[in-house]
Amino acid sequence: MRSDPADPASGRRRFLHAAGASALALAMPPLLGGCATTTTRAAAAPSIRFAQPAPLVAIRASADRIIAIDVCTRPFRAQGPRIEAERMDGHTIVHCYGHGGAGWSLSWGSAEEALALVRETGVTELAVVGCGAIGLTTALLAQRSGLQVRIYARDRLPQVPSAFATGVWSPASRIAAAEHATPAFEAQWERMARTSFHSFQTLLGLPGEPVGWHDFYWLSDGPGSRRANAGEDREPRYAMLEGRLLDDLTPDTTRLSPGSHPFAAASVRRTSQPVFNLHAYARLLLADFLQLGGTIETRTFHAARELATLRETTVVNATGYGARALLDDASVVPVRGQTARLVPQAGVDYGLGYGRRNLFVVPRADGILVQAQQPTDYGNADTTPDRALSEAAVARLAEVFA
Ligand SMILES: Cc1cc2nc3c(=O)[nH]c(=O)nc-3n(C[C@H](O)[C@H](O)[C@H](O)COP(=O)(O)OP(=O)(O)OC[C@H]3O[C@@H](n4cnc5c(N)ncnc54)[C@H](O)[C@@H]3O)c2cc1C
Repeated sequence: MRSDPADPASGRRRFLHAAGASALALAMPPLLGGCATTTTRAAAAPSIRFAQPAPLVAIRASADRIIAIDVCTRPFRAQGPRIEAERMDGHTIVHCYGHGGAGWSLSWGSAEEALALVRETGVTELAVVGCGAIGLTTALLAQRSGLQVRIYARDRLPQVPSAFATGVWSPASRIAAAEHATPAFEAQWERMARTSFHSFQTLLGLPGEPVGWHDFYWLSDGPGSRRANAGEDREPRYAMLEGRLLDDLTPDTTRLSPGSHPFAAASVRRTSQPVFNLHAYARLLLADFLQLGGTIETRTFHAARELATLRETTVVNATGYGARALLDDASVVPVRGQTARLVPQAGVDYGLGYGRRNLFVVPRADGILVQAQQPTDYGNADTTPDRALSEAAVARLAEVFA
C-alpha cells in the first residue's frame, strides 16, 4: 500500500491499525501534556509515541433528520460527452454536453477541450448557453484566457441539475458505454480528468471549503459478496477507466482490522477522495465569473437555430440534459438520481460506501448526503422526489452502526 499523503490524520490512524500496531498503542501509557512518562531505563533511546486516534463519530441516521431531498438526471451519452464544433448560419456552435455522472469531476478539463475549438474561431467575445457545472467552468476559463463572456441560460446555479449532484470526484461515472471506449476517447477522457484533478487541488483550503479531501470507508461482506441491485440490470456496461488510467492520482485503500471501526461489516477499507461542497463551490464560481466582468442573461432557447441568432458568433452549447430537447438529440439519456441530506453533524467528516446495501454517503458541509439509487433510474427523466426511497436508504445507513 502507498502512504496516504492527502490526510496526515488518516495516515496516523493507518499507522496505528497496521500490523497490530493498534494493540501496541493500547498497551502504551497515554501521553501527558506532550511528555513521555518516566522510565527506569535512563539510557533508553527517545521514542515517538502517538496518542490513540479519536474514534469515528457514528452518524445519527433517522428519517426525522432529513432536511432536503433532491432529484436530477445525469445527461448520459453512450458515446461519451459531445465536444465538437458545428457551423450554423454564420455561427460556430461548440457543443459541450452529455457528461453523465462525471460533469463536476471533468468540468475543468472539458472546458479546456471546448476552448481549444473556440480559439480556432479567433473571436474575442463568446456566448455560453447554460449555467451549470459545464457552462460556468467553460465561461471562467474563457475569461481567464482574455475573452469577454456572456452566459445565456434558462436557469442558473443553484437552480440547475448540477446543484443536485452528489459532489464527489467520480470522473468515470456513467461517462460512456464500454463499446465506445476507443483509444481516442480514452486519451481525451484522461486529459480531461487530469486537468480537472489538478484544478481542484488549487481550490483547497478556501473559506467554506468548496473543495476538500475526506476519508471514505468502503464496506463489504467479504470475498464473494455481491452488490445490491442499484440499477445495473437496465444500464449498459460502462467504460471502466479510472483504475486503469488514473490509478496514480488518489491514495490506495487500506484494510482496517476488525474492532478498529464502528461499522457492522465483515470487511472495511479506507481511502481519501475529493468532495465538492456544491453550494459553496457554485457560489464561488458565480462570484468569480461576475468579478471578471461576465454577464448572465436569462433566456430559453426552443430550437437549435436560435443559437445562431445570438450577437456573439461563437457559442458554446452547455445545456446538459436540456440538449436532448433543444437539438432533438436522443443520444442523451436521462439517468435519474435522488439524494437526501441529513442535518450536518459535528465530527462526521467521513464518507462511506457499501455496495451490497446500495449505500453511498458523502460528508458534505451542507448536510450528510445519502444517495438512493434504484433499478429504474436508467432512462428515467422523472424528477419527482420519492421520500420513501430516501427514508429506506437512511434506514440502511442506521443498520451499518447497529
Ligand atoms: C444524482 C446525481 C449525482 C451526481 N453526482 C456527481 C458527482 O458526485 N460528481 C460529478 O462529477 N458529477 C456528478 N453528477 C453528474 C453531474 O451533475 C452532471 O454531469 C452535470 O451536472 C452536468 O452539468 P451541465 O452543466 O452539463 O448541465 P446542467 O447542470 O443541467 O446545466 C444545464 C444548463 O443549461 C441550461 N439550459 C438547458 N436547456 C436550455 C434551453 N433550452 N435554453 C436555455 N438554457 C438551457 C440550464 O438552465 C442550465 O443552466 C451527478 C448527477 C446526478 C443526477
